[in-house]
Amino acid sequence: MGKPEEDGAPVTAPCDVADEVARLRRTFGSGRTRSLPWRREQLEGLLRLLDEREPELAVAIEQDLGRNAIGSFMGDIAPVRSEIRHTLKNLEKWARPRKVRVPVTQQPGVAREIPEPKGTVLVIGAWNFPILLTLHPLVSAIAAGNTVLLKPSELSPHVAAALATLLPLYLDPSAVAVVTGGVDVSTQVLAERFDHIFFTGSTRVGQVVLEAAAKHLTPVTLELGGKSPVIVTADADLDVAARRIAWGKCVNNGQACIAPDYVLVEDSVRPQFVERLLTRLQESAKAEPTRMVNEAHFDRVVGLLDGHGGDVVGGTHDRATLKIAGTVVTDPDPDSPVMQEEIFGPVLPVMSVPSLADAVAFVNDRPKPLALYVFSNSGRSVDTVVSSTSSGSVGVNQVLYQMLVPELPFGGVGESGMGSYHGRKGFDTFSHLKAVLHKPTVIDLALTYPPYGPIASRILRRVMG
Ligand code: NAD
Repeated sequence: MGKPEEDGAPVTAPCDVADEVARLRRTFGSGRTRSLPWRREQLEGLLRLLDEREPELAVAIEQDLGRNAIGSFMGDIAPVRSEIRHTLKNLEKWARPRKVRVPVTQQPGVAREIPEPKGTVLVIGAWNFPILLTLHPLVSAIAAGNTVLLKPSELSPHVAAALATLLPLYLDPSAVAVVTGGVDVSTQVLAERFDHIFFTGSTRVGQVVLEAAAKHLTPVTLELGGKSPVIVTADADLDVAARRIAWGKCVNNGQACIAPDYVLVEDSVRPQFVERLLTRLQESAKAEPTRMVNEAHFDRVVGLLDGHGGDVVGGTHDRATLKIAGTVVTDPDPDSPVMQEEIFGPVLPVMSVPSLADAVAFVNDRPKPLALYVFSNSGRSVDTVVSSTSSGSVGVNQVLYQMLVPELPFGGVGESGMGSYHGRKGFDTFSHLKAVLHKPTVIDLALTYPPYGPIASRILRRVMG
């Protein structure tokens, strides 16, 4: 690990990056990480780290984001712990060769997909849930038997420093390494060859990652962001909808990739819905201890409150504390920045639409979202939304919670990302499923070899058909 920065967060010296990757490759080459007991030991070590060091991690998150201990437990620690437990329970099953049906033309024979680790992989995390977005993919990467280089975000420097210090104490340090620093270190890291890159962050940087990966033909998973819409139909339970949407918007002060970004509500219930939403949003924002991560993000979100042509309710903000009150922007211009950019803050635009069909058309006119939410008491309306839109995930009458179901794949589609993880999907993401066909030698039909006479040709045509 390199020299400490002014604020105490370490930065990996550029020349260390290549050394670290070479070291991880040597460990992978030793074959040690392929053994299931080794993988279990690492996962148990990670669980122990979370159990024993939760207070330190919570302090680091508080320093970086202002979040309190219970918020960090719920948003970062608990989901990683539950992923580790779920993985430990299923590891043998996931790692087992998977039998595949063999067609009659290839009988006798046994076909299997054998999961094998990809090798040395890179995980680049974002700052908004700095433990979750680094350790959750790490669980899958280790479970699949890889060696891992972890690059936490420089915007959560205390967590990055804590991970760099703690991970080597609980995990095999020759198999899992942490590099810290900003764009320059990321750029150094991305110049190296990996066997998989798992990136969480913005769509813009996702493009940078994909370009770098292309140079080495490295497969990537891109967990990106974008605008996640909420559709509220006229028959929705408006009280519950307002409460849940407001809560989901304020978790981590709106700095969540699957936070509701804007609401499309049917005209007929707009006034009742907006009234309830305002009350709930202000309550939720007040109860949320988190602040904007830094001045640049604070200024960006405050900047979105101008130039949209709609009405703003709320919107008070204080640069000294980096706090922005829960804010509703009604009927903004769809071409204005607040309706074009991912908000990533406690500001919620609400647009009214004449019908569900208009809401669906609005969503389909824009990039495919990471998450899409629909609040409705009509099964038919819900089915319409699910079947006629495309998004990474859908939440019906709830927000955010889809990511806590271990076997639901988590990932985007189109501009919101590619690939997914969580549970078995995560294990498979970090595995190569090798196709193996095993043929016995006792039967070796002559007719399968050339020259193919008329009888053999007839049989082959009929059977292979
Ligand atoms: P970001 O793209 O700015 O940074 C993410 C990571 O990329 C950081 O580790 C950073 O050091 C690195 N990075 C930044 N610029 C780089 C460059 N030019 N070259 C190489 N690496 C670079 O994203 P962020 O601000 O940390 O996170 C916010 C974004 O992430 C939002 O768009 C949000 O929706 C998205 N996000 C997505 C998920 C998800 O699971 N899909 C989760 C959280 C956040």
